[in-house]
Amino acid sequence: MSGYLIKKLRQLSPYVPGEQPADLGGLTKLNTNESPFPPSKKVLEALSFEQCSKLNLYSDPSARALVNAIARYCGAEPENVIAGNGSDELLAFCFQAFCDRDMPPVFADITYGFYKVYAQINGLDKKIIPLDERLRLRKEDYYNAGGTVFIANPNAPTGSALNVTEIEQIVKNNPSNLVVIDEAYIDFGGESAIPLTKKYDNLLVIQTFSKSRCLAGARIGFAVGSGALIDDLNRIKFSFNPYNLNRLSIIAGKAAIEDSEYFENCRSEIIKNRSYTVRALEERGFSCTESQANFIFAMPGFIGGEEYYKRLKEKKVLVRHFDSERIRGYVRITIGSAEQMRVLIEKTDEIMEEMK
Ligand SMILES: *Cc1c(COP(=O)(O)O)cnc(C)c1O
Repeated sequence: MSGYLIKKLRQLSPYVPGEQPADLGGLTKLNTNESPFPPSKKVLEALSFEQCSKLNLYSDPSARALVNAIARYCGAEPENVIAGNGSDELLAFCFQAFCDRDMPPVFADITYGFYKVYAQINGLDKKIIPLDERLRLRKEDYYNAGGTVFIANPNAPTGSALNVTEIEQIVKNNPSNLVVIDEAYIDFGGESAIPLTKKYDNLLVIQTFSKSRCLAGARIGFAVGSGALIDDLNRIKFSFNPYNLNRLSIIAGKAAIEDSEYFENCRSEIIKNRSYTVRALEERGFSCTESQANFIFAMPGFIGGEEYYKRLKEKKVLVRHFDSERIRGYVRITIGSAEQMRVLIEKTDEIMEEMK
């Protein structure tokens, strides 16, 4: 830390991303909820030599081609959509635009780790609402929340989801608060709240291309809400980085969202592999939260969460462990290809055998 860093940042604990090893050789990487599948062929075709040759020019600051394609997909108007450099960027904009001393962010004790970092970097107090004893979010706890509500639905790292009726009740019961629903994992079995944004001007829904659209490396996210909310977010964006999406990501994102067939194939494969994995682990005595995401949250009965993580890592299977009080016994396992999940189960059997 240099002597120049300002005081409020000296205490900041940055978000810790899952490990991204440079060499994937022999590794079964199930730690950061990426898709195991490559981007759609249509994406690869769209990223042509000709398009790459235009990288001397700035990208379109309104990312129109992508925003229009997203709007079509959502059944929304382009003025109700903004694209971001990953949904992380849009979430960061929300903390800047919609939270202050009188309007603190409100979120669960166990949820996406970035929310508390955004609160901290903006010098905000936060209101933390514990999940229930089965690690589920209780909708009533968020009524008249007294701040801007952030809910990951499905939640991370638990995977459990509220249905769209429950989301609507939270929105209705917060007439003077904005409710932001982070739907990073919605395509793996949940029900999107995007249609509700037409009816409620205190609802903003955020999605990403990083999980279900096989484009984590392209950094594309989007938000859908009232024209006024989208204007507010554009106000932040145009005061920070007008060219927030690069040329190639605009092209890749448009091609990805238009390839509904590939999208359907990928997500149904993940859902199938998730059922297989949950069943196989439960047969071995694990308990798993009910996941609607492309990961599961699993507690081995025979070993602690951290020890299981470490032993898997020795066997070249990478999962994620969070060293935080209520969830220390669990690991989060990304759902990959059928072959990757077979390897996970095989290595788990070896560990169980070694412990006898
Ligand atoms: C992965 C994830 C994001 C971030 O996605 P990017 O679009 O890659 O920035 C946001 N929210 C949750 C809950 C996530 O798990």
